[in-house]
Amino acid sequence: MPACVRSLLVTVVGAAAVLLGGATAEGAERLRVVTTTTDLKALTEAVGGDRVEVDALARGTQNPHDVEVRPSLMVKVRRADVLVVNGLELDQWAEVVVQGANNPKLGPGAPGRIDASAGLLVLDVPKGRVDRSMGDVHPMGNPHYTLDPGLAPAITANLLEGLARAAPAHRAAFERQREAFLGRLEEAMARWTTTLAPFNGAKVVQYHPDFVYLLTRFGLVNAGTIEDRPGIPPTPAHLARLIQAMKDQQVRLVVVEPWSDVKLAERIARDAGARVRVLAPTVGALKEADGYLAMLEHNVRALAEGLRQP
Ligand SMILES: [Zn+2]
Repeated sequence: MPACVRSLLVTVVGAAAVLLGGATAEGAERLRVVTTTTDLKALTEAVGGDRVEVDALARGTQNPHDVEVRPSLMVKVRRADVLVVNGLELDQWAEVVVQGANNPKLGPGAPGRIDASAGLLVLDVPKGRVDRSMGDVHPMGNPHYTLDPGLAPAITANLLEGLARAAPAHRAAFERQREAFLGRLEEAMARWTTTLAPFNGAKVVQYHPDFVYLLTRFGLVNAGTIEDRPGIPPTPAHLARLIQAMKDQQVRLVVVEPWSDVKLAERIARDAGARVRVLAPTVGALKEADGYLAMLEHNVRALAEGLRQP
């Protein structure tokens, strides 16, 4: 075969590999990843670095329990190589998106799907039978585990395995990037632990139990929720009981999501002699919470400020 034809063939084969989206030796081809939430996007980027292109279906300012299924979300999932889900029904709406997207790589149990919750110790698992017909939005236990920085090693291990399954050539790079991220997180953890140590055992009321994992990690105690049950608005009787309990137990802080009824939280706090602080339940929920570490930084500071004696 003449040399010029051979070199032309090499060029054509090379171009075809790029068009098919295969991982090139240079690592130029990026894995297309869709995550349901912005927290999972931030953690996936921490592991994937510049070898992944990550898009979240929910916006950071949206309550991740209540995302409206739109055709634009299906288009994103149709084009994706990998889908990262919460795994504990925080993002139950994503199943409708995946069905509409008709991407067989990402169906339940398919190799392109990553369940970020695999192997985690889940808090608040209901003892009796709970289903969604009762309105409870946490039927498998509390799904807000990304708020616990102590679980990030396990979550990012799940992400690493899933990304490496889709792009085995990048495994070493994913491992390096994960280690670097966990190093930065560990430094921050030491600081956050010191910041919250003086408040060990302090009781905190939440609007929705978004922060159970966060409170538990730093030795604070969940003293109840303004919601009757997860996702269920409070009755007047529930609120009266809550205010009385807050007075009896000297609860000084109510934490609330930016999308919850902040005015109601303020009224309850006033009646019970407590303060309100707005925490970020997701990356991007508040403008200062524009990254995973920044979100936790804001939440730790807001807790410490809210619990400080006047
Ligand atoms: Zn929830």
